[in-house]
Amino acid sequence: MSKKKTWVKKEKLMSVGDCRYCKKELVSDDSFVAFANHTKAHYKCMKEADEKVVGQK
Ligand SMILES: [Zn+2]
Repeated sequence: MSKKKTWVKKEKLMSVGDCRYCKKELVSDDSFVAFANHTKAHYKCMKEADEKVVGQK
């Protein structure tokens, strides 16, 4: 019956799915975006992908 409160914050990092770009786990602490087809991605990865598309002329 011991309640360890010190690690509660870390345990709150829950997985929300995998990034559709880098395939790594997304945790609730990351900045991420959710797409209409229910896939998710890191905000950073999405931005990089966007820039790549823009960069292709
Ligand atoms: Zn990613």
